[in-house]
Amino acid sequence: MSGKVENTVSLLCVGIIAAAHGIRGQVIINPSETTLDRYKTRQERYKRLIQEDKHLVPLPGETIDGHRVGLEANLDLREEIDLLKEYGAEGVGLFRTEMLLLMEGRISVSEDRQFEVYQKVIEGALPGTTTFRILDLGGDKMLPMAHREHNPFLGWRGIRVMLDKTEILRPQLRAILRASVLGPARILLPMVTDVSEIRKFKEILNEVMQSLEQEDISFDKFIPIGVMVEVPAVALMADRFAKEVDFFSIGTNDLTQYVLAVDRGNDLVAELYQDLHPAVLQLIKNTVDAARRAGIPVSLCGELATNLRAVPVLIGLGVDTLSASPVYLPAIKRVVRAMKLTEGRRLAKMALKSDNAADLGNMLDRWLDEHGCGLSFFLDDGNASD
Ligand code: PEP
Ligand code: MG
Repeated sequence: MSGKVENTVSLLCVGIIAAAHGIRGQVIINPSETTLDRYKTRQERYKRLIQEDKHLVPLPGETIDGHRVGLEANLDLREEIDLLKEYGAEGVGLFRTEMLLLMEGRISVSEDRQFEVYQKVIEGALPGTTTFRILDLGGDKMLPMAHREHNPFLGWRGIRVMLDKTEILRPQLRAILRASVLGPARILLPMVTDVSEIRKFKEILNEVMQSLEQEDISFDKFIPIGVMVEVPAVALMADRFAKEVDFFSIGTNDLTQYVLAVDRGNDLVAELYQDLHPAVLQLIKNTVDAARRAGIPVSLCGELATNLRAVPVLIGLGVDTLSASPVYLPAIKRVVRAMKLTEGRRLAKMALKSDNAADLGNMLDRWLDEHGCGLSFFLDDGNASD
């Protein structure tokens, strides 16, 4: 059984064998022996490919024509910090601080406990920068005691929760600020839709800074503040947001679901969740253009960075840094080092003009194949159905 079924995951239980094709986004439940063998072969080949890419780890993320692209890591837990060196990340582009709470199943973790974690992450990322996203609770990241909402992704989430629950925000800011003397750190705000939220956040940050000063605790007074561009409103008004912050970080996981009105976690509409949709790319372009005009850097930390087809387009659009789960970084670097910026710009123009994500994806797959970076073996090895 494969493809679109009502909640595939609900069909899984102990003892059921399932073959997952992560690149196609397909799960086959109870596959035949032949299919299973084919998947095992693919798995071996994929592992080999990852091993082969390891030689890229010490090399810079630089295009053939000398354009530098930052490659950073998305981390959920401080235990993952050693992966930075293993996969060649230059810093932490996104540290999802909420994971600590979710792992411990608590709404609040003490300032000292948070400090201990943030300190380890900053030290492990040196000389690179660590970007701490303040708690992004809500949406699919619900805590046990959270109330019920009809539309949690459109509800009490991210900065909305933090501005209401300053008793949770303040200790987190104190912990980040205390750790900020140990190495370069930045603060990132999730689920922002309005500039007033950034202004309110800054007022609270200032108060926290003042209290630290009164206590003679040192911290980075100029810690950069950035906004997640993950709601279309921010991308559309990027010029105004750029005046309020020091950097942009594009969160395509949410940006895609909000601009296409497709729940990112609903497998019934998974086919409609097209992260290469021209509307998503147009919002990325708006964001990058506004960042350029304001002279602030822009990174992209959504899963789109791990979609190898998208890499030349994102670089062509002008994204400065790609941040992804560390294991993907060598493959992303392989694409960066196989392209020219001029070529990326040409592909980006074509991508913006394309009518649909499927045609664009096919065109970009051909480009990857021609440049020795293709994954066509995994996408279509003559067995399109399995
Ligand atoms: C995103 O929305 O793209 C993102 C990186 O944040 P998260 O996946 O944690 O919502
Ligand atoms: Mg998000």
